[in-house]
Amino acid sequence: MNNYYFTSEHQLFRKSLRDFLNREIVPHIDQWEEEGEIPKSAFKKLGDMGYYGLGFEESYGGMSTDIFYTMILVEELNKCNSAGTAASLLSHSTLALEHLSKNGSEFLKKNYLKPGISADLIGCLAISEPQAGSDVSNIQTKAEDNGDHYMINGSKTFITNGVKCDFYVAAVRTEEKGYDGISMMVIDRSDSGIKTSALKKLGWHASETAEISFDNVRVPKENLIGEINKGFYYIMEKFELERLILSTGALASAEYALEYGLQYLSERKAFNRSLNTFQELRHRVAQLSAELACLKAFNYQICDALQRKENVTKECAMSKLLCTEFMDKLSYQVLQFLGGYGYMEEYKAARIFRDSRIGTIGGGTSEIMREIIAKSIIG
Ligand SMILES: Cc1cc2nc3c(=O)[nH]c(=O)nc-3n(C[C@H](O)[C@H](O)[C@H](O)COP(=O)(O)OP(=O)(O)OC[C@H]3O[C@@H](n4cnc5c(N)ncnc54)[C@H](O)[C@@H]3O)c2cc1C
Repeated sequence: MNNYYFTSEHQLFRKSLRDFLNREIVPHIDQWEEEGEIPKSAFKKLGDMGYYGLGFEESYGGMSTDIFYTMILVEELNKCNSAGTAASLLSHSTLALEHLSKNGSEFLKKNYLKPGISADLIGCLAISEPQAGSDVSNIQTKAEDNGDHYMINGSKTFITNGVKCDFYVAAVRTEEKGYDGISMMVIDRSDSGIKTSALKKLGWHASETAEISFDNVRVPKENLIGEINKGFYYIMEKFELERLILSTGALASAEYALEYGLQYLSERKAFNRSLNTFQELRHRVAQLSAELACLKAFNYQICDALQRKENVTKECAMSKLLCTEFMDKLSYQVLQFLGGYGYMEEYKAARIFRDSRIGTIGGGTSEIMREIIAKSIIG
């Protein structure tokens, strides 16, 4: 069934992107999974092709494309079977650069957005802290007003690309009070008061996840993003796109995993029959395929509504909740299709399984998604 939202130009874009990824990214993924990080040269390759400019201003090297081009990038990266690679390569643009494009000054766009689009500089989004993940309003990293600059002290954790990056788009506390005391600013990585270390984790092995400490880090006043004390609201606004990207990524990974599982079921025999002839397994495939098709349609519909600037906070939370939980269920089932081989590292199901687990946690947990939905429905 042809999708309503994708034109022939979108399809051409998808094809050339897929060719590029198969040539420049896929051959290196196993090595990056081993090494626990992606080299900056990989980001640069995407930058040189213009993929980091999707949806951003042309005056800074971007392309005024619609949201479905961005979703194609998300889908094709997630079909390379390394959600960590996809997360690392995407968080630079869809998390960090998004804030600069939406709320950054001319100064910040010239010095960070433009070199970010060409991938000469790599950015990351630093919100979460050891004591504040779901509860963003409780962040403690302090930005003290020292006249012509801010002095930053505090720490961040779980930050994707936080070791290798060149700058942080960071949430900091500029006033004591909760929601209305948070600001966003660019913290340049070059300051000697910044220390980082990479965390070891269950999945997303190709993606570097960092702990960061800021010890008397000087940030010029012009690095403030948008208005002072408006950071919490900027973060909430940007969560809508972030959640749709996570939903789209989960569904693309699910599609890839299901195709892989189906292939295995057609090749493996038990009791002198192909596995794909057993009704129990056929019905599981049927159920997963039906759910996948419905979730894809729902998710694309919300992408379209976001693009038309409709209020989709509740729908983004619904999609993030259902798509990431679905991917978790599907990755479990696909591993099960492979029996003992599914548990072996040399088969793709193992990476699919461990990579899916973060889906219901990052970008707002499933519990927080249910809270948002319930608040919107019940009050
Ligand atoms: C691999 C990885 C990459 C990440 N990348 C980034 C990044 O690039 N930038 C960034 O800023 N952050 C990043 N994060 C952080 C991520 O967004 C947080 O982990 C997430 O928001 C949850 O916060 P927490 O871990 O502090 O859990 P907590 O907030 O401590 O929650 C713990 C548990 O309590 C539940 N809970 C909390 N509050 C409620 C409530 N009100 N009602 C019901 N249940 C509740 C949660 O759902 C969860 O199950 C990343 C995390 C990981 C693991």
